[in-house]
Amino acid sequence: MARKTHDRKSVALHWRRTKIIVTLGPASDSRDMIERLIAAGVDLVRLNMSHGDADTHRRTVRRVRRAARQAGRHVAILMDLSGPKIRVGRFEGGRIELQTGERVTITTRRVSGRPGLIPSQYRRLHLDVRAGERILLDDGKLELRVERVRGTEVQCRVIEGGVLSDNKGMNLPASRLSTAALTDKDRRDVRLGVELGVDFLALSFVRSAADVQRLQRYLRRLDADIPVISKIERPEAVEHIDAIMDVTYGIMIARGDLGIELPAEKVPLIQRDLTARARQKGIPVIVATQMLESMIHSARPTRAEVTDVAGAALLSADAAMLSGETAAGDYPLQAVETMDRILREVEEHQWKEGCFAGEAITDRGAKLHFIRESMAHAAVQLARDLELEAVVVPTHTGTTARIVSAHRPLAPSVGACADERICRRMALHWGIVPVQIRRTERRNWRRICLQISEQCKLGKPGHDILLVSGFNDDPEKNEPVLKLLHL
Ligand code: PEP
Repeated sequence: MARKTHDRKSVALHWRRTKIIVTLGPASDSRDMIERLIAAGVDLVRLNMSHGDADTHRRTVRRVRRAARQAGRHVAILMDLSGPKIRVGRFEGGRIELQTGERVTITTRRVSGRPGLIPSQYRRLHLDVRAGERILLDDGKLELRVERVRGTEVQCRVIEGGVLSDNKGMNLPASRLSTAALTDKDRRDVRLGVELGVDFLALSFVRSAADVQRLQRYLRRLDADIPVISKIERPEAVEHIDAIMDVTYGIMIARGDLGIELPAEKVPLIQRDLTARARQKGIPVIVATQMLESMIHSARPTRAEVTDVAGAALLSADAAMLSGETAAGDYPLQAVETMDRILREVEEHQWKEGCFAGEAITDRGAKLHFIRESMAHAAVQLARDLELEAVVVPTHTGTTARIVSAHRPLAPSVGACADERICRRMALHWGIVPVQIRRTERRNWRRICLQISEQCKLGKPGHDILLVSGFNDDPEKNEPVLKLLHL
């Protein structure tokens, strides 16, 4: 094997491993800002369907596609469905004040609110809540306790008072919601997503595997193949996480609502547990919300926020997401640059330590995919022992790249695929650099690897590259191959 004479560190760390997702909105959906965000290293953009109309989203998608093409990057688009977000209605005068200790009534009748009366946009509220349960308002800032339910009226005691204005969110952490996870608006948005060719759909307020399967069935009816990301933000989702992970493409730890639905102090350990479990199952995980929140109005993050972003990389999450910081903040570009710097700092440390993964994938033993997982483990070990500068993963569906990524190789891994859609899909996966190759070229891997090493600044003639291919979700079709190529 050729000894390397050039700087291994700059080659190994040229590509950031943890992917960055930005939410686009009024602060960032201009053509110019989208171009700048992509140049700053954004891997995925998120369309938040709770805001904006269809034409705005159509225009944003066109801009993202054009900017990515011009930059020569595979940037994925994640459409985040609003889901059954429960909200209060409108008030005479736009707001009311709730005094701690007073009694108030929430009604599902279509009326305007006034002091002592809160209208709910959720018409089944009175059917789903029980005496003793908590109702949280406006991101958990206000708290009520249900005392009794009479017809359409839910009588409550104010536990934590404050000002409540029109259309603020309402969370019912302890209640079993009878509303569907996929609303009529979500179905309309899914059809728009199919029309626009978005790369991922995020499903909000998932409670069970059945919720995910309902969306997947709907997509099949539309003849669409779009991977579903389950947003984990309800207590039931945490309870049923293994079943959800078995059917979903990936998960998002949606810490905003999760930290209201559950006591906020539970979020850090849930985040640690879910990132570890997702990797064991070989599915990607996104850490979302309030990562650099203060950068909505400040050019500098707090130390605590810097530590939070670093923590996501230390847990080896696939992606870190910005929300209000880029959608509506004053410093969208600086937020991305800051996140990039923090992630790179941690990754340099991890690379020097020789380990990117919090924990190795251990439960390969009794599993259906024992052979595939063992081969991926061996590939990562080999790349480390031989100090290879790149792993190249030829892939048709992205499966081999997904599995290699889950084992967190030290060397950057190139996912080489002829299908542009799959290249964009790979943009979500930790450490995978998506490269589109020509269909006709697929047989000459030496030539492809030489091109890739030059294009991606990985390796040089005389170096070795590890080729990993042939993983399949169907064990019958699994034909794993590890091949060392001398360039
Ligand atoms: C969250 O709750 O953290 C989240 C990502 O969802 P949304 O921004 O849609 O509330």
